[in-house]
Amino acid sequence: MLRSCVCVRFQPAVAPAHCDLVCLSAVTSFYMDQLGIVIDREMIQNVVTTTITEGKHLITVPFVLWVGLAGLLPAVLVLFIRLSHRGFVTSIWQNLLAFVLCGVGFVGLIATDLKGNASVLRTRIDLKSSFQPLAPIVETFRYGAMLTRSATLEFNEIGLDAVLAADFKAAKIPKLTVVVIGETARAQNFSLGGYKRITNPELAKKDIAYFDNVSSCGTSTAVSLPCMFSKFDRAAYSFERGKSHENVLDVIQRAGYRVEWIDNNTGDKGLAARAIYSSVTYANDPEFCGEGECLDGILGAEVARRLVDIQSDTVLVLHQIGSHGPSYYLRYPQASERFQPACRTSNFSDCTAQELTNAYDNTIAYTDKVLADLIELLAAQSGLSTSMIYVSDHGESLGEKGLYLHGAPYFMAPDQQTKVPMLIWLSDEYQRDTGADS
Ligand SMILES: [Zn+2]
Repeated sequence: MLRSCVCVRFQPAVAPAHCDLVCLSAVTSFYMDQLGIVIDREMIQNVVTTTITEGKHLITVPFVLWVGLAGLLPAVLVLFIRLSHRGFVTSIWQNLLAFVLCGVGFVGLIATDLKGNASVLRTRIDLKSSFQPLAPIVETFRYGAMLTRSATLEFNEIGLDAVLAADFKAAKIPKLTVVVIGETARAQNFSLGGYKRITNPELAKKDIAYFDNVSSCGTSTAVSLPCMFSKFDRAAYSFERGKSHENVLDVIQRAGYRVEWIDNNTGDKGLAARAIYSSVTYANDPEFCGEGECLDGILGAEVARRLVDIQSDTVLVLHQIGSHGPSYYLRYPQASERFQPACRTSNFSDCTAQELTNAYDNTIAYTDKVLADLIELLAAQSGLSTSMIYVSDHGESLGEKGLYLHGAPYFMAPDQQTKVPMLIWLSDEYQRDTGADS
C-alpha cells in the first residue's frame, strides 16, 4: 500500500528495495512507538489473517502523517542519491571494511557497560523485535516457514472413542449448548469479577457460575482461538500442532452432536472445517449492521432463527466481535452508551485515558446484555435442554505501561491481555438431565 515503487521510475540506479525498507520502517515504528506493538511472528500472522474491515480502523490521520514524513519523504529523497558503481574488487574490500568498522563500533559500545548490556540483551528478548526494518522481514520469513512446515504434516484424528455419557443419552429432549467465544474482553473490567464499575448489571441477575482466574491461551485471536479448541495446553500448543490435529468440535461431533459455528469476527481459523460454518460479519441486517460490520446482537437473532429446527443434540459456537479495538465505540449501539464521555475515534491520541476506558467498558456492558438476552432466550425453550458457556479469547491493554490493544508476546504480556472472563449457565432441564449444576 505504502510501498514507494515510484522510486524505480525516477532513479533506476537506486534499488527500489531502499525505498521500500524506509517505508516499511515508518509503518512498523508507528505502531511500536504509539501502541507498544511488538513485531514478532504472531503479529505478522495477525496482519495476514485480519480482514480489511478490521484493519482499516488502524489507518488513522496520525498514521498517514507519520508514514508520509518518516517514510515516503525520505524514500523520495533517496531518489536523489547518485550511486557510483565501483569495481568488483574495490567493492569487496570497501564493503568488508565498512562491515568490520561497524562490528568494532557495535562491540565497543556494548563493552562500555558489558555487564549491564549483557543482562539487558539476555532478559529483554523483545528488543530484537525493535530492529527496523529487519524484524518484520525476518518474522515474515519465519511465518512463511511455519506455514510450509504445517502444510506437509500428517493429520491426526483424536478422541476416536468419544461417545455420549449414559445421562446424556437418556435425556428425553435434545440438548443445545451455546458456546460464546468472546473477543478482547479482559477479566479486569468485568464487575462479576470485582470491577468497581457495574459493567455486568444483567448477568448479575442470572444464575450463572463466574470463573475469576482464567488465563488465555494466547494474546491474539489467531493464536488463542485454535489453542482454546485444541487438545494441547498453552505451553504445548503450536500452530503446526493445532493444524495437524482434530479439535474438540470434531470430538463433540463424533459423540453424536450436530456442531455449527456462526461467526461475527474474522473467521473460525479452520476449527469448523468439518462442521457447519456460517458468517454474519458482512450481513445486511439494518438492525445490527453498518459500515461493513455487525453488532453482536445479531448472534442472538441467529440462534433464535435456528431454534425451531433443532431436533437433535446441538452445539452452536458464536464467535463475537466483542470488544475489538481500536474502534470500541462501534461495538455497541449508541443508544445504550452507558459510560460517558466515550472515545469516539480509533485515534487514541485524540481521547483521554478515561474516555478510552469509558468506550471499552461500554463494549463490556453490551456483551453483558447480549449474553443475558441469550440466557433468557435459551431458558424459554421448554423443548430443549439448554446451556451456555462464555469465555474470551484474550484481553486488551488500554494504555497501561504504554501498551494498547493486544498481541504482546505471552512471556511479557500484562494480565490485562492474558486474564479473561469466563462463565457458565445451565438451564434447570440441563442440570436435571446431566447431573451437572452451576
Ligand atoms: Zn481476539
